[in-house]
Amino acid sequence: MSLNHIITIDGGAASGKSSTSRALADRLNLLHVDTGSYYRSITHALLQTGCDPENLESVKEALEKIELGYEVVGRMSQILLNGKKIGDSQIRSEEVNAAVSKFASIPIVRAKLLQYQRDHACIFEKEGFDGLVMEGRDIGSVVFPKAKMRFFLEADEATRQARRAKEGQIDSIKERDQMDSNRKSAPLKIPEGAERVDTSNMTLDEVVEHIANRVSQEI
Ligand code: C5P
Repeated sequence: MSLNHIITIDGGAASGKSSTSRALADRLNLLHVDTGSYYRSITHALLQTGCDPENLESVKEALEKIELGYEVVGRMSQILLNGKKIGDSQIRSEEVNAAVSKFASIPIVRAKLLQYQRDHACIFEKEGFDGLVMEGRDIGSVVFPKAKMRFFLEADEATRQARRAKEGQIDSIKERDQMDSNRKSAPLKIPEGAERVDTSNMTLDEVVEHIANRVSQEI
């Protein structure tokens, strides 16, 4: 496993992580991992079984019945729960948007995903990629704190709201950010030593160019 080929991208909701990571993956032949989709898939499964985030015993029982797998589609590694992928429209529903931060604050939910996420440091090589770009909230601080290239994307609130509206999603990004920043377990924060990139007045191409330049200086 090589930490020299891992790029971590953290940031709040709608800060531009996914578009940036996707474009970087295409440009540099990286395996792309969107860990937000992992927390969303688990949340969807827990909601389906009627789990209440306040009832930890019910969450624990439901988690024990979920086996995690992966499937690489294009440059993206997608999570499988008991062999099945949960569709994009399901994981990005209003119901999941409203519940995901509550489930993501539960330590046993995070523990379920921690090693699974770290395993991607080997999976990218096995699948023939030149590196890994993993996006989320705690990737540079908890999942890969020793990765060489760690970035934190920021954007002002108006820009972030406009991005979500353009995607046609109902999503309280401010509330999610507050909950994600204030939780005890692996909160959303700028990882120590990570480079902050304010994308408010940058185009996607400019952000990608900036990070790709940094990466080529490092490798
Ligand atoms: O990135 P996205 O907005 O899809 O993430 C959905 C939610 O998943 C976040 O608001 C957060 O609660 C949770 N999450 C997390 N840690 C990560 C990625 C996402 O807690 N590494």
